[in-house]
Amino acid sequence: MSEQRNVWVFIEQDEGLIAEVSLELLAKGQELAQALGGQVWAVLLGHELADQPATLIQHGAQRVLVADHPELALYRTLPYARVLSDLAGQDRPYILLVGATPLGRDLAPRVASALKVGLTADCTDLQIGDYTIRKENRTVKDLLYQIRPAFGGNLIATIVNPNTRPQMATVRPGVMRRGEPDPMRSGEIEMVTPQFRQSDFALQVLSREMRQPGVHLQDSPVIVAGGGGVKSTEEFRLIEELAHLLGGEVGASRAAVDAGLVSREHQVGQTGATVRPRLYIAAGISGAIQHRAGMDQSNKIIAINTDPEAPIFQVAQYKIVGDLAEVLPMLIKALREKTK
Ligand code: FAD
Repeated sequence: MSEQRNVWVFIEQDEGLIAEVSLELLAKGQELAQALGGQVWAVLLGHELADQPATLIQHGAQRVLVADHPELALYRTLPYARVLSDLAGQDRPYILLVGATPLGRDLAPRVASALKVGLTADCTDLQIGDYTIRKENRTVKDLLYQIRPAFGGNLIATIVNPNTRPQMATVRPGVMRRGEPDPMRSGEIEMVTPQFRQSDFALQVLSREMRQPGVHLQDSPVIVAGGGGVKSTEEFRLIEELAHLLGGEVGASRAAVDAGLVSREHQVGQTGATVRPRLYIAAGISGAIQHRAGMDQSNKIIAINTDPEAPIFQVAQYKIVGDLAEVLPMLIKALREKTK
């Protein structure tokens, strides 16, 4: 097994735009590499990548491996998996991190399978620590703790791969905090030449149509979210009105989505978006662990609930015990008067 202790981050980009999650993982990668005494490397695949490698160095990459090729201009599973698994197979980095985006969820399992290594999806935390294999009475030092909710969120599991390298994990957008770019940082850029096989091009992209996402939960500084305590479409309008007045987005728990009050792209939580707004208002949301997993890192949380024992109050800084059908109109009225 390789002795090197580098952390690789796969960089997702589309037509020159680097995905936020890749920058978030570079920040986390630096922290892990520091704990390991290794380096953080970025792996960038695409075509005509302009100043993206320099941006990655500013965000902490000590080396950027760049595969620039016309066949990598648009994401396709097979060519991307070929290049990433070839590179990681030759170098066997200690850790390989991928964003848990639709692209990352497609790519990471292919690469893990090609390299015959494990993969933990949707980690909510990553740390370095030791692990004792009791059966063998052997302690493996400095493993990647891949931490994520398990069994429907009822427990938090820490998963380790003591035997194979790289230790691979995916992390959803918004879970880690991205760092500030520093133009003074220096790093190396290494161009690599992809070695494709004919079978990698089984799929050809003839044209592409992009659907613009209508909901921008992750970018919104304010989210007003409604849950199972919202009884009707009329009551849900209060959530929308408050969100509108505050210049924010509408969020929801799964109960509200399942009740048909709002579409699934508004869902916050384990199977929805992970958000970290400046202000999160949760109205009629109990605060089940699966919901909290997506919003408990918000800067300020205001919860409105009729039940003083509701678990949402454990993570809220401002607690309003009351009926949302009364509290929301009061908030809306106060805001309207303030902005008159
Ligand atoms: P409820 O459980 O119905 O709670 C309603 C709350 O509103 C209660 O606390 C009640 O006291 C309060 N209330 C009632 N009436 C009023 C009123 N008039 N005014 C004020 N308060 C009132 N859930 C998510 O949200 N996001 C996820 O991503 C997610 N993923 C999941 C993944 C898995 C694998 C599983 C098993 C579950 C997942 N869930 C998720 C579901 C989750 O377990 C809860 O069922 C869900 O979050 C409950 O939503 P809720 O709290 O809004 O509704």
